[in-house]
Amino acid sequence: MTFMRVCVLGAGVIGLTTAWELAQRGYEVAVVDRRREPAAETSFANGAQLSYAFVAPLASPETLRKIPGLLLSSAAPVRIRPTLDPDFIRWGLRFLAACNNRMVAETTRAQLALSALSRGALAELAQREALSFGLRTAGKIVLHRTRSSFDAARQQVARQATLQNAEGQQVLTASECLELEPALEIHPNEFAGAIYTPTEQIGDCRLFCQELAVRLQQQPNVTWQLGTHVRKLVMRANRVSGIETSQGVIETNLVVLTLGSAAARFAKFAGFGLPVYPMKGYSITARFASGAQALQHSVTDLNQKIVYAPLKEGYKDMVRVAGIADLVGFDSDIDHRRLTGMMRQAAKFLSLDLESDVRPWAGLRPSTPDSRPIIGWSPISNLFLNTGHGALGWTLACGSARQAAQMIAGEQPAVDPRWFALERRS
Ligand SMILES: Cc1cc2nc3c(=O)[nH]c(=O)nc-3n(C[C@H](O)[C@H](O)[C@H](O)COP(=O)(O)OP(=O)(O)OC[C@H]3O[C@@H](n4cnc5c(N)ncnc54)[C@H](O)[C@@H]3O)c2cc1C
Repeated sequence: MTFMRVCVLGAGVIGLTTAWELAQRGYEVAVVDRRREPAAETSFANGAQLSYAFVAPLASPETLRKIPGLLLSSAAPVRIRPTLDPDFIRWGLRFLAACNNRMVAETTRAQLALSALSRGALAELAQREALSFGLRTAGKIVLHRTRSSFDAARQQVARQATLQNAEGQQVLTASECLELEPALEIHPNEFAGAIYTPTEQIGDCRLFCQELAVRLQQQPNVTWQLGTHVRKLVMRANRVSGIETSQGVIETNLVVLTLGSAAARFAKFAGFGLPVYPMKGYSITARFASGAQALQHSVTDLNQKIVYAPLKEGYKDMVRVAGIADLVGFDSDIDHRRLTGMMRQAAKFLSLDLESDVRPWAGLRPSTPDSRPIIGWSPISNLFLNTGHGALGWTLACGSARQAAQMIAGEQPAVDPRWFALERRS
């Protein structure tokens, strides 16, 4: 093995799973994060969906048609605040270029392969290490309010059914959907139908990270540097020779960049561009109203772009509601108008107790223009990239980590690496 000492920058779900896979292969791994706890940023309170079948990218001909409306509306579930930031402009142009059917098909194929790898890797890890994070095959219902989005979804189901790694999916009428999930408070006339995937799972990403961090701390070849702010990569002769941090310089043979949305800034230090831009989203974790029926499945209200996951806290039934996609830069503060808008929609959809014990949260999805993560070598010889997982980082984490570790160790990667390379295969 050429590199034995590896520094994993970032202790979100991508960094932790990557550290685990590398540690299993005998590397000496140092995990560095500015926060004092793992998973304190985007992996903290996401939508909890292990959404292996719903991997279609955001960039699509349908999204392209909606962009003018998004620029004008302040209440739409997706909001774009245009800026003259060159990184945003470059990212936006690449996003527009990805809004075609060929790229949608290519990304779907790539993401399905990675999600199948992830599903297996997560199941294996959870079982072997007895991780407890509420992993459950709840099944997923994706509800379509308009005929046009339902028709497009049926086409996507047909397209995916012909691909390798596709999960079985059922097309439901509105009444069949409400029979399956009676907790939904929506009239059958208000939506066109739904797609049901019985094999989809849910689990709490932060709990998973905490459990995995405990297992990592028990490994003799893993060290932790939490509360350590990475300031810059020290470069020498097309190599990273060290990492300058708030706690001094860390020397290392190999660096894995798993800094989520912050990764692009460090790529710039190293002299190359990384098309990862933050897309802000919100969640609340709340209880059901007293006497109300608890949700059984994970549900996506597609046209409102809101996901609902039934979670358990002890014996208590809770729901994680997550949504909103705002391109508003690196600001992760909660905009209460946006949060209230999402909560209002949620209260129309489920019977929730929004008066007590509501935990709000906002996070930045590290998003690429084509929605595919970047997993592969950078132009710097000892800098590996595993970032840009956007809206699917929890779903794709274990597969991405396995793929990354296989590539670093010089093994045959499980998935075609060209799909996720910095320079995409065209
Ligand atoms: C509202 C919302 C809902 C979502 N729902 C789902 C879902 O249901 N299913 C799903 O699959 N995905 C979902 N996602 C996406 C998923 O949460 C992310 O893709 C994933 O958490 C990204 O993980 P990460 O490790 O790349 O980033 P992060 O978790 O953000 O980790 C990056 C780490 O880098 C550290 N860091 C950054 N800069 C520095 C620095 N300078 N020095 C040191 N450390 C630094 C941070 O502290 C952080 O811990 C959702 C995201 C959002 C926002």
